Amino acid sequence: MSGYDRDTLEKFRLSGKILRETREEMRYLVCENMPIIEVCEKAEGLIRERGGKPAFPCNVSINEVAAHYTSPPNDKRKIPEKSIVKVDIGVHVDGYITDTAVTVCFNPEYKILSETAEQALKAAVENIQPGMPTSKLGAIIEKIIKSRGFQPVSNLTGHQVGRYLVHAGTSIPNVAQMSFSRIKLGGVYAIEPFVTLPNAVGRVENGEEVTIFRFLKSRSLKNPHAKQLLKHIEENFRTLPFAERWLQDVVPDEHYLEAFRELLSSKVLMGYPIFVEVSRKPVAQAEHTVLIVKDGCVVLT
Ligand code: MN
Ligand code: MN
Repeated sequence: MSGYDRDTLEKFRLSGKILRETREEMRYLVCENMPIIEVCEKAEGLIRERGGKPAFPCNVSINEVAAHYTSPPNDKRKIPEKSIVKVDIGVHVDGYITDTAVTVCFNPEYKILSETAEQALKAAVENIQPGMPTSKLGAIIEKIIKSRGFQPVSNLTGHQVGRYLVHAGTSIPNVAQMSFSRIKLGGVYAIEPFVTLPNAVGRVENGEEVTIFRFLKSRSLKNPHAKQLLKHIEENFRTLPFAERWLQDVVPDEHYLEAFRELLSSKVLMGYPIFVEVSRKPVAQAEHTVLIVKDGCVVLT
């Protein structure tokens, strides 16, 4: 029935259980004026306590920032009052990844945005079928969001997950679009509608900040501290995204900056810029990871 063997499916299920429990704790823990670094460290700590490993740094993306912000080391920022906050977390168990997100809203005016994202996700989960064109799933998501008077962020998508790969293979669009790919029986997919206001541009662009990185390609390095840092990255994160917070204490403080810069400038690492809604309108997100079975899907998260 499934492309994965029983052992692997158990790892996906455990990964999803750890993530679901962590998300539900985070939903009630995040509050206004809380330091963002506390949100990140709390979520990542809960994942580790439960026996998982973060598949990527906890993303805390606020208002018009749709995705890809995590606290840098010594981050002083706090959750702003009246903000809309996307907490996006991932777990891997032996490389098998699940990915989920919740929107916490401190502005009553924008509650309906996060409710709409949840409803679009629910419709996608209820309708997904093996063999279904991904474009059809995108159309279902878009229809629900537009029927409620909002619009999807058209250039953010869900994705298939693979071992040690967060974005593997097929994308799951949030709008109807031309595509020939289909949902595969036994595949594991993250579905993640992003919703914004009807008068927004409805797309994201790269922002200035880069707080999340991943290993790209091994190269010969001169700086011994850069070598040491790279060894740590390859051994601990492989091809998965990581935060600079996770690199503290690997090399002496006074050598860290130079070493990290060399890894970036030599393109051993790549960075993920934050994604910002083009017209700076607030964005909500909901996300689950699902396993495709004969008559639909099993929600892992
Ligand atoms: Mn996610
Ligand atoms: Mn995702």
